[in-house]
Amino acid sequence: MACPYLEYRDADGDASFDHERAYCTATASFVQPMRADICNDRYDLDHEPHCEIYRAHAEVGDS
Ligand code: SF4
Repeated sequence: MACPYLEYRDADGDASFDHERAYCTATASFVQPMRADICNDRYDLDHEPHCEIYRAHAEVGDS
């Protein structure tokens, strides 16, 4: 299952694109293509063990 912080957008306050791109709501920024594989749990990747941003935000949410 993909990261709950992942969205697909074609624009934010600073940039716009002609197609939707991976967007991290935890950092309020677009995700680099290589990191998007982690966000989508592609291949052998998993957002929980492999993304420090996810872990930091999940810990804040738990407390
Ligand atoms: S960068 Fe990390 S926290 Fe943000 S959407 Fe991707 S996996 Fe989730």
